[in-house]
Amino acid sequence: MTGMPLEDYRRKRKFTETPEPAGQARRNSRSRIFVVQKHDASRLHYDFRLAISGVLVSWAVPKGPSMNPAERHLAVRTEDHPLEYAQFEGVIPEGQYGAGTVMVWDTGTYEPRDGIPPGEQLARGKIDVVLHGAKLRGGFTLVRTGKRSARPGQKERWLLIKHRDEQADPSWDIESPRLSRSVLTGRSLQEIEKGRPRKMPGLGHTHV
Ligand code: MN
Repeated sequence: MTGMPLEDYRRKRKFTETPEPAGQARRNSRSRIFVVQKHDASRLHYDFRLAISGVLVSWAVPKGPSMNPAERHLAVRTEDHPLEYAQFEGVIPEGQYGAGTVMVWDTGTYEPRDGIPPGEQLARGKIDVVLHGAKLRGGFTLVRTGKRSARPGQKERWLLIKHRDEQADPSWDIESPRLSRSVLTGRSLQEIEKGRPRKMPGLGHTHV
């Protein structure tokens, strides 16, 4: 968020200890992918990431995304991640930042609504996108709440809200077994933790 791209990401990690990618920022990338990772860390949460200006701009969503437009879920902005992170699934060892199991819960492409460049939407604190994922589909808004000038070190709080469109699902339940597996490898969190092999070919719609 500040300084060199990915500076915060790299400072928090020891790449000799964690299987996560060091990666690199690609300022000229026009990648329009999104990824949601289910992260069984000290507290289970979901990480929502959008490729904007060559990095994955990231939010931690404690309750996870919802296809129900009536739910407004808190999304706390976290450090930008490299585009390579969209394929990261595995176990971050004990003692490392974010220790725990990471699943690629959903991924796909997105389009900015109304043709406003995503970087501009991010700067204004309101992002409207259409997601083309396996689990998440249709329009979503991310909106920053509270004062723009949060104290240094204070994390920005946003809300993630599904649009009222044809894909909206008022009966959405993220705990449902049909939503419990990786879209990349078909594995459950437990199977990833145990290092079990993938169950099906990747869906193959992540273009970095
Ligand atoms: Mn996380």
